[in-house]
Amino acid sequence: MSETTTSSGGRPSLPMQGVPQPSRDEVLNLPRVHISSHPVMAHKMTALRDNNTQPPEFYRLVKEIGALLAYEATATLALETAPIETPMGPMIGERLAGGIGVTPILRAGLGLAEGFREVIPDAQIWHLGLRRDEQTLQAIAYYNQLPHRVDLQVCYAVDPMLATGGSAIDAINVLKRRAIPRLCYVGIIAAPYGLLKLSQTHPDIEIYIAALDESLNDVGYILPGLGDAGDRQFGTF
Ligand code: URA
Repeated sequence: MSETTTSSGGRPSLPMQGVPQPSRDEVLNLPRVHISSHPVMAHKMTALRDNNTQPPEFYRLVKEIGALLAYEATATLALETAPIETPMGPMIGERLAGGIGVTPILRAGLGLAEGFREVIPDAQIWHLGLRRDEQTLQAIAYYNQLPHRVDLQVCYAVDPMLATGGSAIDAINVLKRRAIPRLCYVGIIAAPYGLLKLSQTHPDIEIYIAALDESLNDVGYILPGLGDAGDRQFGTF
């Protein structure tokens, strides 16, 4: 396509057309960015991306990948001592120090949040509805019911596709107003463009992803990616 098409409002409907994007190599070593190198993750990612994978299987894979990401992203959580009695006698055990929050960005983040719950069943789930304006790619909050009482040691914003970075940046902005000591973003696939934007806008958060892809197409979808993560989880094609 050689011309920028416009919507009725006159805004560009190919919002990434002509926008310079960093290469994969340029963002590979950003600080606080963790890209999974686990072979089981690579195996599941291939099944997830496959166009033949149908929604029930796709959702199951998102949950499993979410559990693997949760395992990686929780590796440095703080512990506190917990005296207990085993059947054999007393011992000093350890428990996670403070609550864990998971914020799925609706709706595509729901499967990832379920994966986190498999690993941390008592995590608090803080739903946040952000949608993308298809013309401008700006994030718009349409649902925000986060609790008022905050006693978390960490909160994970989860959304499978880090494309332009708009929703991720907005979600972290919302969570930063809650004075949570530590915030992380967890996604399945990142484009270099969105990864760089998120990392530059929020250099204080950790970012965990399963894969780093090549680029965004003109409408902001990740290549090679997996298509629309929401539609593929929930069968809304
Ligand atoms: N959202 C998706 O679901 N897929 C993409 O490739 C980009 C954004």
